[in-house]
Amino acid sequence: MERTDVVIVGGGASGLSAAVFLARYGLDTLVFDGGTAAIRQCVHLENYLGFPGGIPPETFLAMSREQAELTGAELAQEMVVEAAKTDEGFRVVTASGREVKTNRLIAASVYDDDYLSAFEDELGSVEPDGRTTVSGLYVTGWLGDAEHQAIVSAGDGARTALALVRDVRREDEGLWDEIADHYYDWTVEDGRYSETDWVWLDEFVAENTPKDATPKEKRRMRKRLEREYLALEMDDVERNERAERGRKLVQKHVEEIEP
Ligand SMILES: Cc1cc2nc3c(=O)[nH]c(=O)nc-3n(C[C@H](O)[C@H](O)[C@H](O)COP(=O)(O)OP(=O)(O)OC[C@H]3O[C@@H](n4cnc5c(N)ncnc54)[C@H](O)[C@@H]3O)c2cc1C
Repeated sequence: MERTDVVIVGGGASGLSAAVFLARYGLDTLVFDGGTAAIRQCVHLENYLGFPGGIPPETFLAMSREQAELTGAELAQEMVVEAAKTDEGFRVVTASGREVKTNRLIAASVYDDDYLSAFEDELGSVEPDGRTTVSGLYVTGWLGDAEHQAIVSAGDGARTALALVRDVRREDEGLWDEIADHYYDWTVEDGRYSETDWVWLDEFVAENTPKDATPKEKRRMRKRLEREYLALEMDDVERNERAERGRKLVQKHVEEIEP
């Protein structure tokens, strides 16, 4: 059976936004999308920040899908019909009979949510960041607690993905609580961190070191955070390449909009 880190059920604003954050962290992320969608019932999306004249929902979805795929997520046009808890996570089944094992599962579908029937009792208490009382199961977007607006659902998907990433850091990667939570998906100019004396990082690690930690563990955490900070830096060459790629991709989608 196929195996992945995260399955997201739903390729709307919430699911695709979550996929971008998860894939950028390096998690194997599979998005299933099929069935009824709220976003496709909107005629012209006029209140999503960044699109001054509004945008057709299909164009918005095509751009969002491309962004998720570019970051490394896999997208499959398939409807999920069953999800069950296993010892290692979840087993997800699609209408075509495809079965996938996953460590974590995000439900980001509004309408066709029968696949969640095994978790009916637990879904009454979803945290604002999408965590549920079932370990590894998250609910986001309109299906969760988000206002019924596309941009709020996208933000909600991002927040849920960040909660999931922090759980991975704590539970799978063994990072201390504050270090696990100390994660933001940023980019910064070259030298912003590498040209500092790192005293601020030493202080942060010292403040958040558990009493029983060994010096070796402390060094490991410090090194890990240093690597993460350095990976946020982007030099001018890369920045220009990304800007050019972004310009071409937006242009491609804009040219496809039918008047
Ligand atoms: C009539 C109408 C008009 C609207 N107009 C606007 C507007 O103008 N502006 C605005 O901001 N908001 C508008 N909204 C609200 C907006 O559409 C939602 O807030 C937003 O789309 C919710 O995003 P989501 O990702 O949570 O859900 P959805 O957009 O519903 O995305 C969920 C996705 O999951 C898929 N899916 C469902 N079940 C399954 C399954 N079992 N397996 C796999 N995939 C599944 C669906 O096909 C869909 O693609 C409108 C909503 C409606 C109903």
